[in-house]
Amino acid sequence: MSQPVRTRFAPSPTGFLHIGGARTALYNWLYARKHGGVFVLRVEDTDAVRSTGESLDIILDGLRWLGLDWDEGPECGGNHGPYFQSERGDIYDAYLQKLQAADLVYEDDGAIRFRVPDKDFTVRDAVCGDVSVNLKVQGARGFDPETKQEIEKNPDLVIRRPNGSYIFHFVNVVDDIEMQISHVIRGEDHLSNTPKHLALFEAFGVEPPQFAHIPLNLNEDGTKMSKRDRGALIHEYVENGFLPEAVNNFMALLGWSPKDDAEIFSIDELIERFSLEAVNKSNSKFTYKKCLWVNAEHLKALSAADLREKAAPFLKTGGISPDDDRIPAALELARERAELLSAIPGVIAPIFADPLEYDDEAVTKVAAKEGVTEVVDVLISALEKVDETAWKADSIKSAIHDAAEANDMKMGAMMQPCRVGTMGSMSGPDLAPAMELIGKEGVLERLSEFRTKLS
Ligand code: GLU
Repeated sequence: MSQPVRTRFAPSPTGFLHIGGARTALYNWLYARKHGGVFVLRVEDTDAVRSTGESLDIILDGLRWLGLDWDEGPECGGNHGPYFQSERGDIYDAYLQKLQAADLVYEDDGAIRFRVPDKDFTVRDAVCGDVSVNLKVQGARGFDPETKQEIEKNPDLVIRRPNGSYIFHFVNVVDDIEMQISHVIRGEDHLSNTPKHLALFEAFGVEPPQFAHIPLNLNEDGTKMSKRDRGALIHEYVENGFLPEAVNNFMALLGWSPKDDAEIFSIDELIERFSLEAVNKSNSKFTYKKCLWVNAEHLKALSAADLREKAAPFLKTGGISPDDDRIPAALELARERAELLSAIPGVIAPIFADPLEYDDEAVTKVAAKEGVTEVVDVLISALEKVDETAWKADSIKSAIHDAAEANDMKMGAMMQPCRVGTMGSMSGPDLAPAMELIGKEGVLERLSEFRTKLS
């Protein structure tokens, strides 16, 4: 019987949740969910100086927001805990004793070194293919930055520092053994560490997990992404009004390609379609524009109720009551334009504004058009004739259309003054449905005020 799937995300809580880390978490989570496995969250907090509770909170909040729930780990516990490396000292001591008993380690100036065998270790990586390294040969060579000369080094791996703290490679492997991890999916920056990990697995007499190193995430210009780059930090997606399902979708595409050209996936579709075989070998390029596009597509796909719920906090911040009866219809207009939840209030604010603020530049531009006052007069009298009970987008549109024809005016020449007069600016949502929401009285009031501005 094959081993049950157990994956893990093993962040070090020393900063923010970065998109690269979140993508690693997502791939591990997708793999576990796809195979009915277990997703473990392990906190690699051995660096007591740099690890902080604040950073841990940011990481956990980010994972929760993305919906990447863990089956074992902080808060929920599990059978393989504790899930903080800082609490696992006894386990590491016991594993060190195993190596001591097998004479595989020795003391060197207070540190403990693991004797690396003189042989090739081959990482059989699900993404990168086979990578072979002889640690004894590789580790014996070093570079002295001062003399700029190659120097000989002790190739044996330090696994415990003179101060008693354990090195990353050792605790990482011990935990993967103890937590029975079947698949290690992590960033390609760890590929060069993996032969060392294989040597430790062998020393403990344990079959290593399947490794899959995922390509790095670069900026569009090929430089390494840093936390200062736009789109680098997960909490900024939350604040900027992205949907978590869109961020998951976008992160999935950073390094994984479905077989067809499809690009928009729900989380269930991602679970169904994700595979390690389809993870790209080459580095991925991060583009914020694409992120926005993916988010806009997910906004369009939200149910009306979900859209209302998710937009509510942003509406409140924008000074619009989410409980207004016109909100559902306004949100339908907004989602055609807004790429982000945070952009929704801006799109629909003119509908709810009282008084409406006019964009001076737009007013000046419209005022400069010949015959504009006549156009507005025609608009006012045409709209006055629309029955209050028939005040719907279609009847508004046909009233304007009929008035244009009757007065030998072009529709284009009517619509711009109509838009600036009722919505205050040149751009905005689909006009007739917006006018329907403003209401007959409101529209006529706005147009008369606009008429006054023009004369
Ligand atoms: N704590 C390591 C990191 O954040 C985890 C490495 C691993 O996934 O094995 O890079």
